[in-house]
Amino acid sequence: MKNGVMLQYFEWNMPNTGELWKELKRDAAHLHDIGVTSVWIPPAYKAHEQQDEGYGTYDLYDLGEFDQKGTVRTKYGTKQELHEMIEELHKYQICVYLDAVMNHKAGADYTEKFMAREVCPEQREEAKTEPYEIEGWTGFDFPGRGERYSAFKWHWYHFSGVDYDVSRKKEGIFQIVGEGKAWSEGVDGENGNYDFLMCADIDFDHPDVIQEMKNWGIWVARELNLDGMRLDAIKHINDLFVKNFLEAVRADQGDQFYAVGEYWKNDKETLDEYLSHVEYKIDLFDVPLHYNFYQASQEGEKFDMRELLKDTLVKAHPALAVTFVDNHDSQKNSSLESQVKDWFKPLAYGLILLQKEGYPCVFYGDYYGVKGVASPHHKIIDILLEVRCKYAYGEQQDYFNHPSTVGFVRMGDEKHPEAGLALLLSNGKDGEKTMNVGKKRQGEIWYEVTGNRSEKITIDAEGNGTFPVSGGKLAVWVKCEENL
Ligand code: CA
Repeated sequence: MKNGVMLQYFEWNMPNTGELWKELKRDAAHLHDIGVTSVWIPPAYKAHEQQDEGYGTYDLYDLGEFDQKGTVRTKYGTKQELHEMIEELHKYQICVYLDAVMNHKAGADYTEKFMAREVCPEQREEAKTEPYEIEGWTGFDFPGRGERYSAFKWHWYHFSGVDYDVSRKKEGIFQIVGEGKAWSEGVDGENGNYDFLMCADIDFDHPDVIQEMKNWGIWVARELNLDGMRLDAIKHINDLFVKNFLEAVRADQGDQFYAVGEYWKNDKETLDEYLSHVEYKIDLFDVPLHYNFYQASQEGEKFDMRELLKDTLVKAHPALAVTFVDNHDSQKNSSLESQVKDWFKPLAYGLILLQKEGYPCVFYGDYYGVKGVASPHHKIIDILLEVRCKYAYGEQQDYFNHPSTVGFVRMGDEKHPEAGLALLLSNGKDGEKTMNVGKKRQGEIWYEVTGNRSEKITIDAEGNGTFPVSGGKLAVWVKCEENL
């Protein structure tokens, strides 16, 4: 995936107008022009209410086609519009990855009575009560869809827990009790066992559920002609299921079917362990790198820039890391709020878009904006995407050797001998760094493409350039075009 770029094409506060699929279709040619090679689209199936972002999944088989939950379309549009958008992106060789929300279901059609015990939120293996009968939202029969595409109907025994007892109007974490019922193994260890996240938690140890979810994966990949998936909330799902699910979908779609998992934990060891459990068959978002960006942006010049890549996935597993700055969950007022401050975003995007390793993912909120307010980072992301296309080739030499000014060079390669670049990031005062771009480049004149610096730099006989960077900014140096 040479110089691929993923774009997350939504943010948390998109208006509920049903226009997103149409907007994305209209944008296809432009995305191709700026070098986007794949788009991560939001959950495209019916949620418990129309305005839901899609993570409150009701019916995975209703892609905006049936009159359910008071609406045919989803927040983002109809199935027909979804099809047309994907077809248009494919015309421009842009891959489409669907957000697959498999951990839970919401908005059941009716309640059922079953035995459950309430557990401690901080220690889910610890019961607060003996088992007793509760009434939970676990009956799904999809009256608007009937048995089209799948005849599977969901009942309480297909779930492992719920968040509400209707009969007592009581919120809590209710673990469903019965033969073979337990929280899954192969989930995150936080809170004792982090199987349960929200709503009605799907039981991935139930054989009928496992089969139904594999069937869905194969169906939706075929139905939408998908190129891959982003798997939501995988730290709450049995890792063995995730591995088997991807094997089943790839057996049908081919091994190139792409997958990236959202394992939201700022801990490289946990991500390492997870990757080994799924036999390295999935990419993961580089959550530790995001938190390094977040911390650096918070601490300003006190942050030691030599640590910027410390304990990140992209260092440990460069081929499996999807690098990103922010997303819909980390943005302001979201569930995992940890938004990187604006001053640091150009630096963070410079790093992920120009470094050799990692599959960078640009966030809609950073490129287009949030709540309809234009992003201040649109222009710099455009510049960096263009630099990525034209210059970000060849080996990388790191210069993470100063607490406030760090950088790297890319050397160009046989196919792109005139390419290559020098990136510098400063979180303190104005600085400069002598970096070697290769003896072959001697005598070349280099300039700074973001507009932060206006001087020209001559590469010396050894291939060294002494490149300046302004305080709190990034600088991206490349060979002057007129010399090409
Ligand atoms: Ca779960």
